[in-house]
Amino acid sequence: MRSPSGTTIAIIGAGAVGATIAYTAAIKHLASKIILVDIDKQKEAGEVMDMCDGLCFMDTGIISGGTYKEAKAADIIVIAAGVTQKQQGADSRLDLIEKNKGILKSILKSIGRLKKDTILLIVSNPVDILTHLAVRFTNLPTSQIIGTGTLLDTARMREAVASHLHVHPQNVHGYVLGEHGNSSVIVWSSVTVGGIPIKQIPSFTTHIKKQIEQSVKKRAHAIIKRKGVTCYGVTLATMTLLEAIIYNQHKTLSISTTIRSWNGVSHVALGVPAVIGRAGVERIWPLTLSSLEKKAFRKSASLLIHYL
Ligand code: NAD
Repeated sequence: MRSPSGTTIAIIGAGAVGATIAYTAAIKHLASKIILVDIDKQKEAGEVMDMCDGLCFMDTGIISGGTYKEAKAADIIVIAAGVTQKQQGADSRLDLIEKNKGILKSILKSIGRLKKDTILLIVSNPVDILTHLAVRFTNLPTSQIIGTGTLLDTARMREAVASHLHVHPQNVHGYVLGEHGNSSVIVWSSVTVGGIPIKQIPSFTTHIKKQIEQSVKKRAHAIIKRKGVTCYGVTLATMTLLEAIIYNQHKTLSISTTIRSWNGVSHVALGVPAVIGRAGVERIWPLTLSSLEKKAFRKSASLLIHYL
């Protein structure tokens, strides 16, 4: 097991999401050094000062602001910079593409050539498209560029199923795949609760499933309407990914990666179940989808391909 000591994580974008990721990674002691970089240097400095006030109470060694040159030396670089749906009045995450593509390109251009074992984690939206484009903007192989993808949608599905059955979300397993967005697909055939396939649970009617599908798709909107941003769920999803990489856990997680060929889809990044370790995406998990799920997954992919 690789120790977090010696690991440096750089987070680009010190907004609601980036700062929460930096803070949570610090209190979880996932790295000896955390570097926060934002185009808004006042914001960056304020967040760093606030977090450094807590250094006495945590084990992380250094939290600092930094330059792209310093970020380039990190083992893992998290991209959380960009505009949000609320700022743009956007209905879909895909509407953020033009602005956030430009921001991603300029960040990766400024960072320049990366160390050959760097892992790039994309959080900014539209996360699938940006994960795909990042391959063009860096020297890294696709296996080292990971988007948070449908990891958050999967967590939302697990929580909704758990709440319906009055069990803990950690007892619910399964995947949401495809776009992190309106065309995401709950793979009901993969969902089990305490080892029981969901199709064997009588109270889980088609109506309940439809309700959960809608609530997963509308969850971000529902939160943004009430508090303006979403940051905790995505941060903890990112922590799971960081831990899987740092500790080489070989965890099977629904993340976004550019796939060569899977269930009839190729050459696009989208949410798939993948085994994650220190090398990044080790392999795509050969999950079997029903014919309806396959159709929905392909539809989600075709929507994304349109934006590449
Ligand atoms: P925010 O507005 O609070 O923060 C964005 C930050 O990016 C700002 O501080 C801004 O100054 C910075 N920034 C802009 N251009 C930059 C550049 N070129 N270099 C460095 N920093 C730059 O927004 P937020 O709520 O933190 O959201 C950030 C991104 O994360 C958005 O794209 C949002 O849609 C996305 N997001 C993704 C998920 C997910 O599940 N993948 C969930 C929530 C939010």
